[in-house]
Parts: sequence; structure tokens; C-alpha cells
Amino acid sequence: MILDIQQKRQKVLVLGATGSIGRSALDVISRNPDRYEVVGLVAHSNMDAMAELAEIYQPEFLALTNPQVARDAQIRWPQWIWHHQQSAVQAYCGSCNIDIVIAAIVGAAGLLPTMSAVNAGKKVLLANKESLVLTGALMMNAAKKSGAQILPVDSEHNAIFQCLPPQFNHSHHLFHTHLGVEKLWLTASGGPFRQYCLHNLETVTPAQAINHPNWQMGKKISVDSATMANKGLELIEAHFLFGLPSSQIEVVIHPQSIIHSLVQYCDGGFVAQMGCPDMRIPIAHCLAYPERIQSGAKPLNLFELSNLSFEQPNLEKFPALKLARLALEAGGVLPAVFNAANEVAVDAFLTERIAFTQIANCIEFVLEKHEAIAACSIEVVLDVDRQARHNAKEFCKI
Ligand code: NAD
Ligand code: MG
Repeated sequence: MILDIQQKRQKVLVLGATGSIGRSALDVISRNPDRYEVVGLVAHSNMDAMAELAEIYQPEFLALTNPQVARDAQIRWPQWIWHHQQSAVQAYCGSCNIDIVIAAIVGAAGLLPTMSAVNAGKKVLLANKESLVLTGALMMNAAKKSGAQILPVDSEHNAIFQCLPPQFNHSHHLFHTHLGVEKLWLTASGGPFRQYCLHNLETVTPAQAINHPNWQMGKKISVDSATMANKGLELIEAHFLFGLPSSQIEVVIHPQSIIHSLVQYCDGGFVAQMGCPDMRIPIAHCLAYPERIQSGAKPLNLFELSNLSFEQPNLEKFPALKLARLALEAGGVLPAVFNAANEVAVDAFLTERIAFTQIANCIEFVLEKHEAIAACSIEVVLDVDRQARHNAKEFCKI
């Protein structure tokens, strides 16, 4: 249709542009230049990578949130304006010159920019699960109020979104009463240590932990996959995105990462979403939703799929998953506490200050120090986040 061809290109801001998700998103965008235009790029400190991206995309807004690095970049590449202030990034997230924000900063650092995109009613492609775990209902309510569309990039949540009936998008009420959704099933690869015994987990190294069998990802989420804290964060993420209680969200180990998640209906039917493990698929799905575009991912070869297996997660070996469920069920600010403790502990593990198995111990230690007070405002949540980080550092002796 001529109208479609003449439609104006959608303007995209990529938060976390130099990361694994950011790069995959830029790859999908580059394959669809008639539909999307990159207008802003934000990252933390990788200035060489950002200068290369700036050269390719010629964005109107560039930011490196590490101030020293931004100053160095300004000297090396004076043809660009290098922003670094949080306030500038947040203001740009709400700018009327943007249609789509790809929220792919890692950790709680992504919260305020993502929130400002949500408050400004943008189409937000949410990869940064930590920001939703932190603020939960606050973020979902902000989206309802502003009209922002939060689309899940996380492969499991994207799969569930695809497996739910389309009416779900319009009404949570309908979803619970008439659509017959009984359970959401999140699949988990089990990570690199799925077959290790508890004793051997004590001595695994950061290099082993970030060597994920199926996905190429940033270091933090790779460690989270190895401890299964990632599936814990995803359980909480699913609760807030889809509005089901913990008792209706299950986790199943599926080592091949071909089925990305499933929805179980009351008639006994299960709907699953499949594909090669390539994040460009969910990213492309969210970018074009409800249409479909090329992602660059290889299609599955069904003739070569000989074995899809499923097993129960071992909560004794991976207690972080159990702790996440407890935090979700206790409610209030405890998911935020879980996230903060995990972020500090993962960092301490990556810098070889604590052992792998101490990550979950740290989370448990910090959760026990906090009450499930109501997460009634961003300020309350951020304050709890700071306290929880302090307690986690005490545990890690840093
Ligand atoms: P990554 O480490 O590869 O990239 C992180 C990006 O965030 C980088 O561009 C970095 O510069 C930027 N960043 C870090 N701290 C920042 C700060 N303080 N301010 C601004 N920018 C900052 O991480 P990733 O694997 O791309 O993951 C990004 C997010 O997407 C995470 O929340 C992760 O859980 C989620 N996610 C990732 C995958 C995956 O396959 N990689 C899958 C699902 C969800
Ligand atoms: Mg995931």
C-alpha cells in the first residue's frame, strides 16, 4: 500500500547501545531502514564503540553516563556533543522527537531513564528487567496513565506475550475471568552449571560462569543465568507484566532453549513459542508489533530438532530462584531488595571477592534484614535499594 510506504520512519532511542541487546537491536534496525531511524544512543563508558556507532547512525543525541569518559570523548570527537548527566538522558527519554525507546541498560541504573520513557507515553521495548523488578506496579501503573506500551524483549516474556490471546492486550479483567489462562511456564536453560553438583559449584570461576551454553549475553545476566537468579528476576517480571500470582507462574528447565516459554490453558492445551536462541527475534517482534519484520535470525531447522527435554529446577543447587519466589510472595519492596543484593553480589563475584555460592547467601542475608514495606513511590524504592546495597556490601565485606 502506498500509504504504508510513505509512513514516516519511527525514531528510536537505544539505551545501552553498546551492550549485547543494544547491538542486536541496532542490527535489526539496520535491516529495516525504511521503518526505523536511530536518533539517540546511550551507554556507560565504551567510548570507542560509541564513536563508531555515532559515525554509522549520526544520532542527534549521544550520552556516555560515565562523566570522565564523556569528557575524554568530547576531546577526541569534538564533532559530536557528548552528554553525560542523568538529567539530560532522562529528559531525552521523554522528548517528543522519539517514538520508541529500547530499554537495554543493565541493572537498576536503567530505572530512571526507562521510567521517564514510560511516563512520557513512549513505546518501550523492555529488556532491562531489573527496572520492572524494582518498581513493579509503579511502572505498570505509570504506563497505564501515560498510555505507554511496554513490550517485553526478554525472550520468555516475549514468548508468553505471543502465546496469550490478543484480547489480553486490552483487558486484564477479561484475561483472568474468561480467557482460560491457567499457568505461565517460563523455560530456563539451566545455565552452564546445570549438571554440576553442589560441592563443585563452590569453586567455579567468573570465566566459567559467563560462558553460557546457548546465549551470548552481557556478564551480569550471564552470571544471573548461572545462579538462576535470572529466572527469579523473570518470575517477578512475569508477575508484573501479566498480572498473575506466583502460584500460577512455573519454571521448567529446558536445556536446548528452543521453546522460549509456554501458556497453559484451562482446557489442557499448551501454547508454546519456538525459535533459535537469538534475541533479534523478540526484538524484531516488539519493534514491529503487531506486524512482522526481518530480524536476521536463522529459522529453526525442524528436521534437525531431535530432542527437546524438560526437567524440574533444583532449588537446592540454585537457591536464588527460591529466594526470588519468596521475595515476590512477601511483596512490597522485597523484589527490589532481592535485585539490589543480587547486583552487589554478582559484582563481588565477578571481581573475585566472594565465591559463586555466596551470591545466593548474600541475597538471603539481605532479604532477612528487610521488611516487606509497601513500594508506594519511586523514592521509597530507591531508598530501600540503597539500604539493601549497603547491607549486601557488608556481607561481601566491601
Ligand atoms: P551488557 O552488559 O552487554 O550491556 C549493558 C549496556 O548498558 C551497555 O551498553 C552499557 O554501556 C550500558 N550501561 C551499563 N551501566 C550503565 C549506566 N550506569 N548508565 C547507562 N548505561 C549503562 O548487557 P546485556 O546483556 O545487553 O543486558 C542488558 C539488559 O537486557 C539487562 O537488564 C539484561 O537482563 C536484559 N536482557 C539481556 C538479554 C541478553 O540476551 N543479553 C536477554 C534478556 C534480557
Ligand atoms: Mg530471559
